[in-house]
Amino acid sequence: MIPPEFEYYRPKDISGALSVLTEHGDEARVLAGGHSLIPMMKLRMADVPHLIDLQDIAELKGIAISGDRVTIGAMTTQHELINSEALHAAAPIMREAALQIADPQVRYMGTIGGNVANGDPGNDMPGLMQCLDAEFTLVGTEGTRTVAARDFYEAAYMTARHDEEILTQISFAVTEAGYAYEKQKRKIGDYATAACAVLITKAGGKVATASIAMTNLSDVPVFSQAANAALVGTPCDKAAVKAAVAAALEDIDPTEDNRGPVEFKKHVAGIIISRAIERAWSRA
Ligand code: FAD
Repeated sequence: MIPPEFEYYRPKDISGALSVLTEHGDEARVLAGGHSLIPMMKLRMADVPHLIDLQDIAELKGIAISGDRVTIGAMTTQHELINSEALHAAAPIMREAALQIADPQVRYMGTIGGNVANGDPGNDMPGLMQCLDAEFTLVGTEGTRTVAARDFYEAAYMTARHDEEILTQISFAVTEAGYAYEKQKRKIGDYATAACAVLITKAGGKVATASIAMTNLSDVPVFSQAANAALVGTPCDKAAVKAAVAAALEDIDPTEDNRGPVEFKKHVAGIIISRAIERAWSRA
């Protein structure tokens, strides 16, 4: 289908983008890689009379690692995340997760900013960002503010970002934790039936810290404090993994769709969570 008519803007800096956004209010949307927004416009599920393309704004691109902090510009593509050796050294879970998103064509265009700002429960980066305890920087005409990924998601496609704000960067701490991103999907290029990000640190043969977050198992990503607590202080044996999986399953709320009924999704989630914990522990 062909989208309805729209005005196209291509500002060179953030203030140029903000001025169009402010002038047209909820009639304007920013465009990143376009892999969610353009299909929505073509299907006429999104009506965007004023489309602001961010691709010429250089300050929104790039990966910087300074001290123990990783900062990623919102317009950095998933392809760039995968190919950054510096990012791989600082947070190897990023490459493991990004490689499981869609296919190479989508990853050449799709951006980390679009993936986290979209609010689609099927996007993989939001759960991963909650696992990493990332912070999102939002810039609007009123100034700049930071929102924790764990506080950002309110409902499907509803986030803490105000309409007139642009997500400029994502940051999180460098991590040496054992890691795993496990995803079950129907075929290559599909969104998750269930996915799980895990980071585990080890001290004295026991779990010192655990961070577990899940994708597409509720209308928002699910960060499970109860699952983390079930692992900490244990030797991550079968009983501890079972307890953590049980706790995580209490926190999810999947819905029936073309990926299966609720019981099936819970079953898949249990397997994915347990595999992710075991693999992260083996790398801790
Ligand atoms: P866009 O589509 O340009 O934008 C998405 C939304 O975010 C829009 O509402 C836009 O206004 C808003 N937005 C974008 N950037 C900003 C910003 N800087 N500030 C404020 N708002 C912003 N994703 C997955 O995670 N996992 C998958 O398995 C997966 N499979 C896919 C399969 C196919 C066939 C396709 C087409 C896409 C798939 N995707 C998947 C989505 C893809 O990975 C993109 O990351 C995702 O579409 C959003 O990124 P984008 O850059 O394309 O954003």
